[in-house]
Amino acid sequence: MDYQQIINDIYRDCLAEKDNGKLADYIPELTQVDPDKFGIQVTTLDGHGYGVGDYQEKFSIQSIAKLFSFTLALKLIGNALWKRVGVEPSGDPFNSLVQLEHEKGIPRNPLINAGALVICDVLVSELENPKAAFLDFMRTLSGEQDIRYNTTVAESEKANGYKNAAHINLMKSFDNIHNKVATVLDLYYHICAVEMSCEELSSAALLFANNGILPGNKERILSKSITKRINATTQLCGLYDQAGSFAFKVGLPGKSGVGGGIVAIHPGKYTISVWSPKLNEKGNSHKGIQALELFTTNTELSIF
Ligand code: GLN
Repeated sequence: MDYQQIINDIYRDCLAEKDNGKLADYIPELTQVDPDKFGIQVTTLDGHGYGVGDYQEKFSIQSIAKLFSFTLALKLIGNALWKRVGVEPSGDPFNSLVQLEHEKGIPRNPLINAGALVICDVLVSELENPKAAFLDFMRTLSGEQDIRYNTTVAESEKANGYKNAAHINLMKSFDNIHNKVATVLDLYYHICAVEMSCEELSSAALLFANNGILPGNKERILSKSITKRINATTQLCGLYDQAGSFAFKVGLPGKSGVGGGIVAIHPGKYTISVWSPKLNEKGNSHKGIQALELFTTNTELSIF
């Protein structure tokens, strides 16, 4: 299969279509991004990479980080995590508060904001320097050392993050946040502000396609069973209240972020990352979903 030709064609076809999406302006710093950026990267388990467009340019990974913080927390505390966060799709927007009070401060899953805040609380409890440890984890998974926080983006979100503050305070009132609210929020805003390229994200996600083993140095990071659970949760929850139509159109576990990136995983075969900053009304990349749908349709390589 000529992956390079396939993504070149998809890139050209998606660029030709009108995109009515909008930048995430509730984080002011994200409006500084060129809305016409567009990149695609496919990385196969045998180590080959295929990229087109802005696939090597770093962008704000935002909620894509939740896939990796969830993974790190599971590695640290294992099944004890499930006492504090569920694994059901929320069917609600990523930053919705409505279920949280009814469900007594236990978020539906680790990939919505409330769940990711609990995960950050776990990381603060378990790690001496969680910010450094998270970057190290991303560097280990991607094999790329130059991965950093954009502190301007983190501060920009912190200054406007009223809704995340509401989430964490509500969960604190139910005793599901054990550390200081400000400390946990600071970690959360930083992990969302990690900058990576499509190429780096595709490498970092390869272990999910490879039963928990880094394909490069063959290091086992996760057990097969934990990898299964992460991929299942990602399939059902990774695109929030668009997870159903993402499964329907793309047919892969995927995780999106309001920076306009999406990473998707085909267990046993490849990972694919896309970046286009204009978002649909669900906060997911409009062109990104279009490109992923074309890829799995044209190659007939989805998990279904
Ligand atoms: N940092 C963003 C927030 O908390 C992440 C949301 C996202 O990417 N969906 O709102």
